[in-house]
Amino acid sequence: MRRIDLKRANVARPNTIRDINRQIVLNYVRERGPISRAEIAQETALQRSTVSLIVEELKSGGLIEEVSGESTGGRPPILLSLRTADAVAIGVDLGTIRTIVATSDLAGRVLEQEEFPTDPDARQTISRIIESARRLISKNEGTIEGVGVSLPGLVDQEAGTAIFIPHFKWRDLEVAEEIRSAVGLAVTADNDANAAALAELWFGRPEIREVRDFIMVLVEEGVGTGIVFDGQVYRGQSGAAGEFGHMTIGEGAPVACAAGSHRCWEAFASERAALARYAKLKGCPGAAKLDFGRLVCVALEGEQEARLALKETAYYLGLGIANLIQGLSPEAVIVGGPVVRAWPLIAGDVRAAVEESVCRGVLPAHIIASTLGPEPTLMGALSLVLTAKFTPVSVS
Ligand SMILES: [Zn+2]
Repeated sequence: MRRIDLKRANVARPNTIRDINRQIVLNYVRERGPISRAEIAQETALQRSTVSLIVEELKSGGLIEEVSGESTGGRPPILLSLRTADAVAIGVDLGTIRTIVATSDLAGRVLEQEEFPTDPDARQTISRIIESARRLISKNEGTIEGVGVSLPGLVDQEAGTAIFIPHFKWRDLEVAEEIRSAVGLAVTADNDANAAALAELWFGRPEIREVRDFIMVLVEEGVGTGIVFDGQVYRGQSGAAGEFGHMTIGEGAPVACAAGSHRCWEAFASERAALARYAKLKGCPGAAKLDFGRLVCVALEGEQEARLALKETAYYLGLGIANLIQGLSPEAVIVGGPVVRAWPLIAGDVRAAVEESVCRGVLPAHIIASTLGPEPTLMGALSLVLTAKFTPVSVS
């Protein structure tokens, strides 16, 4: 049972119940559409007239639309679907190597995207983002409602500030405010792994939507984790929760973590760690500079050294996951990032390392690959805008 927070609780207004019902209907359409008014009424036990009233509201608010279903003889039934005619969100995926700025519809489908190399000078990168966002906003003539930004580091989500981005040594950057004042739309910023976890919760595969507690492990240049607890992203004090990438795994990792340590999980299990192992196996230091996607391709084509480098990295990925399972007992652990393409090669190694390291009596968790595609953090950035439309405003 959750204890009520008296500082945050809103007294139930007459509209509270209506807001909640509105969100229930909207989410039925989102997850189950095309769906009829009658089916929604039946499944939610809301009155038919209440459903119809809410549907009218959602229609005039531009969130859902009517589509015609398949006829079973007579007139085709009128069904409801999310309205996906317009671009409604801009997602900014600021990565350590490149930045993607993209638009999507309400269902999270990417419609258009631009990308450029991330400049180590924060000012340059932010002005390129603003330039792209302005172009996309003016192209879409007033349909874009907000901008979500995914950042590879510590983020104060409420203030929209990047507290520390280790890769570029950026500190206290008011990312959300700078973009907001330039483009005139609401801007939300969050840590990349938290944003990807949010995307997985809302746009991941159907079985994940039923899971209330899971951990997203994002493997990229570093290793980040986003914790979803009771159907929402757990942030902890000032949004810094989930920095498991820096838990100690052992000694003598092949690379240093972003903070310079050779003992952290990301120093053993990141893309950089895999590339360093590959370079060593090949006896060619230059191979460490290879693009990680290329390493995955070579491994999938069957090259022995590439496979070994990925498998050894998978072992350490599993070791860290075992620690998370023992400490937090989630229902599932989802692995995301470009490494997912190599999942058929490494899933067995990850699971074996988990089984070997988890002590007896600990409940097992499903360990699965993300289905968000090669850019889970872009989906995360878009989710920061989109999910606000699907969650009730006044429940706490
Ligand atoms: Zn570290």
